Amino acid sequence: MDKLDAVTLDALPLREDLRGRSPYGAPQLDVPVRLNTNENPYPPPDALVEDVTEAVREVAAGLHRYPDRDAVELRRDLAAYLSVSTGVPLTERQLWAANGSNEVLQQILQAFGGPGRSALGFEPSYSMHPIISAGTRTEWVPAPRRDDFTLDTEAAARVVAERAPDVVFLTSPNNPTGGSIPTAELEAVLRVAPGIVVVDEAYAEFSSQPSAVTLLERYPAKLIVSRTMSKAFAFAGGRLGYLAATPAIVDALQLVRLPYHLSLLTQAAARAALRHADATLASVAKLAAERDRVADALLGLGGTPVPSDANFILFGRFADAHAAWQSFVDQGVLIRDVGIPGHLRVTIGTPEENDAFLGVAKDVFAKEV
Ligand code: PMP
Repeated sequence: MDKLDAVTLDALPLREDLRGRSPYGAPQLDVPVRLNTNENPYPPPDALVEDVTEAVREVAAGLHRYPDRDAVELRRDLAAYLSVSTGVPLTERQLWAANGSNEVLQQILQAFGGPGRSALGFEPSYSMHPIISAGTRTEWVPAPRRDDFTLDTEAAARVVAERAPDVVFLTSPNNPTGGSIPTAELEAVLRVAPGIVVVDEAYAEFSSQPSAVTLLERYPAKLIVSRTMSKAFAFAGGRLGYLAATPAIVDALQLVRLPYHLSLLTQAAARAALRHADATLASVAKLAAERDRVADALLGLGGTPVPSDANFILFGRFADAHAAWQSFVDQGVLIRDVGIPGHLRVTIGTPEENDAFLGVAKDVFAKEV
């Protein structure tokens, strides 16, 4: 046995509740067409790359000092972006940022979840919600969606009232199924929730529904809207997520965040990227049109695409979804098996990538019948 493997995971004094668990991990395979992690397929525009490079060069001279612990200027820029895109005036006191929205969600559960507390979500949904709950020792309470993956608002309000979770997750548009939750339906849950309601809007820029930010004024003690620059903003590698909430909630998160969690480089790069929001977000309309084209084409091939308001499509039906996933990989197209029987999820890519996907889909569906 290799010396480095002399100590196994089983032999470590690991927390009992983490034993036997698997880390989050979409396979990262080196194939020609990668449509599996819901990124924007278009690389950042040249002007953005130049600006980020220049911004990082400028701050590099100050790398011997810790960064602004509260990332105030970045939060101001995020507030300006979100105010313009939602029509709701926001200040930096209502914004908080971290390394990806996953870290934002973790901080929310550190502050409002934890041992003896619970978080509820409507499945299937984003698999990190239960994983972050486990990591923070928050009890996870799964609640169902309808068979067509939409949210049954009355049933949702009932289960939230009954189970009284400390935190509710509502994902809109929902990953991996793609549908958005209309404002009236969000409100039905917000009205009865006893604790915090997190509306995870990672894909909001692709959606035709208004943002839950419009509800902040009405539910200031409950509502948190989380967002990310990883998707529409084409900044997944930059790791920047953020949220909007009432200032007291931002104060609460400062109790659990690690000091200086956002590096000088991250803050500078994200601010530079935000200056190019208009150019980056120009891809959103193109991707939405491609999404609709791919959905129609899947229908034409005998597939069953679930209506999507995001930059991905859940589709079926396969007798054996995992075998179908493998057929896609074997033909050079990496999509995602999200564990929903009979279904796979494809991220919308460039028109060429989508054509490559559809070419393989034709072959895979032909073998199904
Ligand atoms: N929320 C949802 C619904 C997501 O799909 C993702 C990414 N897959 C995230 C949050 C986290 O993204 P990030 O940490 O890159 O901001």
